[in-house]
Amino acid sequence: MQSVALYVHIPFCQNKCLYCDFYSGKFNDDIKAAYVSELCKEIESAGKNSIGKILRTVYFGGGTPTVLSLRQIEKLVSSIYNSFHSDIIEFTIETNPNIEVDFSALRNFGINRLSVGVQSTDDALLKKIGRLHTAEQAIRCLDSAARYFDNISADLMLGLDEKQDVKKDLNLLLNRITHLSAYMLKVEKNTPLENLIKNGKVAIATDNQTVEQYSALYEHCCKAGFKRYEVSNFALEGYESKHNSSYWNLTEYYGVGTSAHSYINGRRYFNKSDVSQYIEGEHSGNGKQIIEREYSLDTEKEEYIMLSLRTEKGLNLTDYRKRFNENYSVAYATNIQNMINYIEVNNDRIAIKKEYVLVQNSIIFELI
Ligand code: SF4
Repeated sequence: MQSVALYVHIPFCQNKCLYCDFYSGKFNDDIKAAYVSELCKEIESAGKNSIGKILRTVYFGGGTPTVLSLRQIEKLVSSIYNSFHSDIIEFTIETNPNIEVDFSALRNFGINRLSVGVQSTDDALLKKIGRLHTAEQAIRCLDSAARYFDNISADLMLGLDEKQDVKKDLNLLLNRITHLSAYMLKVEKNTPLENLIKNGKVAIATDNQTVEQYSALYEHCCKAGFKRYEVSNFALEGYESKHNSSYWNLTEYYGVGTSAHSYINGRRYFNKSDVSQYIEGEHSGNGKQIIEREYSLDTEKEEYIMLSLRTEKGLNLTDYRKRFNENYSVAYATNIQNMINYIEVNNDRIAIKKEYVLVQNSIIFELI
């Protein structure tokens, strides 16, 4: 039976972080309740369309999904189990350290993985980017969660400041988690952070400093037994995110909620980024999604190559041949030759050399 993944988007946050340009914000309780009801309808509809498929991973992301009440989370979980034929191996929910969460209840709902938005263990930096929590709260959150979850991921941001002490962050975090997502701060247009930087009120790390921080992070993670399996993701053996991996190997996925994207039967579609319209029924559950495009075989190939090369394992040539009935090494021989200094090639695999991971986009571009 074909495996599928499900992403559930919760666009609610307690406050807006200064760097964030995701579709999320503060909404009142009535809107949250109406949103959850509408989400259940969209989940039900996705389930009806998934005949012959089996749901293997679920991810509650946002926003901050744990701003919902336990009853609302339970309602969503029940809706998933009632709507899909499922054998869920990984069920993740994102949370933030300032939110009081009943971890025991989440575990009882079948959620088995927690992703915590730590971002930094330096209070001054947390304040600088508008996070609502302190480092102490982050550590307390991870320690309480560890009583119920053996699979915990933390998000960490790099590039927040020239003096950012990544080793200190990792010393505090790595013995408390099984998975780390490390993102480089990107100054998005029209965010408060962009304004603060433009007005000279805030300074962040330069690109070179950020690269140095990433190198320190890479080295420290390796020493602690965390393997990089994708440019931003590190994990202990066996704790790589199965849900994220399904995006990279083009497993089909449903995305429900505002702005959520889906990839089903070769089609891409997404919902509008508008909570008001969503609760009025403007979503895929009512056939009101936006169709992005139907993938041509060439686009599908390019995406598969691109996503595979972003991972540490690289492009598996046998899988590629099975999927597209084509030998990549032959079909793209010139591109491979042009990039030969930047890649590792063996019988069954092509991967970007470790030292070029941070400039991989331009290399990948040449390989498709
Ligand atoms: S908690 Fe996450 S989604 Fe919400 S504003 Fe901050 S970064 Fe954005």
